[in-house]
Amino acid sequence: MRLLVVEDEIQLADALTEILKRNRYNVDTCYNGIDGYDNALTGVYDCIILDIMLPGMNGIEVLSKLRHEKISTPVLLLTAKSEIEDKINGLDTGADDYLTKPFITGELLARIRALTRRKGELVDENKLDYNGLELNKSTCTVIWNGSDVKLSLKEYQIMELLISNPHQILPKERIIEKIWGYESDVEYNNIEVYISFLRKKLASLSAPVQIKTARGMGYSLE
Ligand code: CA
Repeated sequence: MRLLVVEDEIQLADALTEILKRNRYNVDTCYNGIDGYDNALTGVYDCIILDIMLPGMNGIEVLSKLRHEKISTPVLLLTAKSEIEDKINGLDTGADDYLTKPFITGELLARIRALTRRKGELVDENKLDYNGLELNKSTCTVIWNGSDVKLSLKEYQIMELLISNPHQILPKERIIEKIWGYESDVEYNNIEVYISFLRKKLASLSAPVQIKTARGMGYSLE
């Protein structure tokens, strides 16, 4: 999953980014409202963590412009205690949740999980399941029928994307945007290599789940 952190207190922004990366999220970080807005407009994020008091454009303006542009990415507002008015304003403008600074990491992570949870998903923060094939976040493994195989971080992230969108064709472009970022110069054949690793690993488990190639389009989990 890809997150955007928009926060002008550099130490806080960098600490947040580090924590989120350790929790296996891909993270882009912006230190002002204008860059935050430009990044968010790409629509590639699963959640945006948006401070209210920002130079350039404040968080409420960023949010309001995004919603106006029909970008519906979940937004978690970060507010200072003194910004009660902004908090109300933010929720009215289309924020999905807010967190008052200072906050504890566990609460931030829980709120991000809640905002990015798929409808009907079982509430187990460490596991994703597709027809009995399990992807375990804490161990970075795929598990089938009691056997498991370890994944690299990128393999894990691709598998997470596939298992979260079963039967949907994921274009290679989308996989690159989500995992490497929209400014990356990763090429299609890099993805093909990761997919071939994943296929071998799934085959080694004899799992009845396949990553299918939709020729010229992308991949889907079937
Ligand atoms: Ca601020």
